[in-house]
This record gives sequence, C-alpha cells and structure tokens, in this order.
Amino acid sequence: MPADISPVFDSEKVTVIYVLGGPGAGKGTQCSKLVGAYSFCHLSAGDLLREEQNREGSQYGELIRTCIREGTIVPMEVTVKLLENAMSAEIEARTGDGWSNGRGRFLIDGFPRKMDQALKFDEEVCLASMVIFFTTTEEVMLHRLLERGKTSGREDDNVESIRKRFRTYEEQTMPVIRHYSSHGKVVEIDSTASVEQVYREASAAVSKFLRVPLA
Ligand code: UDP
Ligand code: MG
Repeated sequence: MPADISPVFDSEKVTVIYVLGGPGAGKGTQCSKLVGAYSFCHLSAGDLLREEQNREGSQYGELIRTCIREGTIVPMEVTVKLLENAMSAEIEARTGDGWSNGRGRFLIDGFPRKMDQALKFDEEVCLASMVIFFTTTEEVMLHRLLERGKTSGREDDNVESIRKRFRTYEEQTMPVIRHYSSHGKVVEIDSTASVEQVYREASAAVSKFLRVPLA
C-alpha cells in the first residue's frame, strides 16, 4: 500500500483554478485581467520554467530550453516544484482580500498539460477546484502566436515550434481536459471573440464560482 499523502495546501483554504487551452488561446491575456479583479495570484507554468531556465546555476536550464523549443513537456517534478514554491512564497507574503490565515487563490496558467502532472499536483500540492478552458481554432491560435512572435522573443513562437506545440496539446493536454470534464470542473469559453468579450464570460464564471460580485 502506498503511504497516504495529503496535499501541501488544503483546498478548503487555497483555491486553485487551472487555466487551460491551446497555445495562443488567450490564457495569459485573460489571467492578467482576472488577477486584479479577483485578488488572484497568477502563476504561469511557462513563465516559471523560463525563469528557471535563465537562473544562474540551474541544473535544469538546458533541459527546459530543449523542451520548450520542441514543444514537449518538461518532466513534471520540475514544474510541480516550481509551482509549489511560488505558491508557498505568495501565501507567506500576501495579506488582504482572500489571503488571510493561510488562505489564497491562484490562477495556474498553462498547467497541467499532461495527465501525470494533473494527478501529482492534485494529490500532492492542492486539489484544483475549477478549470477554465479557452477554445478557438488552430488558425486563430497560429495567427496570434505569429503576431506575438514579432516581439515576444520566445524561442517557441515560430511556425515549426508552434506545429509541435499543437500536437502536444492534442495528444497530452486534451486528455487532461476530458478528465476534469468528467469531474464536472470545466467551464469552457470560446476565446475567438475580442479580449473584452471573452473577459466578460471568464469574469462571470469566476464570480459565480467564488460567489463574489462581478468585477
Ligand atoms: N511547459 C511544460 N510544462 C508545463 C507548462 C509549460 O513543459 O506545465 C513548457 C512546454 O514546452 C510549453 C512551453 O513550456 O510548450 C511554453 O508554455 P507556455 O504556457 O508559456 O505557452 P503558451 O500556452 O502560453 O503559449
Ligand atoms: Mg501563456
């Protein structure tokens, strides 16, 4: 029998909302808007990985760089630990609306992208309460990513990497979305429309879920 592991954070006190959708679906854009409105901490798994990649002395730098360029998933231990550390630091440091006595609320953007990460995070770090799933067509996502690529400096905003990311998304991330759908945790939002229009839907979903006024 495996030892009974309880998560680091109690989901009664710490609210985790996963924000998923294909590359370029609008996750980061919408998270930035939601964060101020509902006192969230926004953690982008991709940003944490890029930060770790650039950290002097990181033993994972090369591994992360290769995975990001190839559009594959970094071994889950690395990403889960980075998220857990960032959550602990935020809970420790932050006070105010929704953040007293070990409470907190997180938008975790671009994670979990693969079933193993989802199960590990839910069991060992914090059980997620909800998943916001942004959907649009590959054509729209490709267009947005190429636009972003003009200024993002990201090594994966080029056609070759984007194609690989689309594949990884279909093969590895869609099963995660189906998993949470079967648990009734997914709110699906079509993100083809304008940023403002998509935000209205995302905001409505969040305010309903947190039972707080629309912001
Ligand atoms: N990545 C990963 N594990 C994660 C999240 C991201 O390995 O849990 C890697 C993966 O290679 C991915 C890249 O980081 O293609 C960029 O992720 P990001 O979320 O920044 O891309 P976005 O979805 O915003 O386009
Ligand atoms: Mg992003």
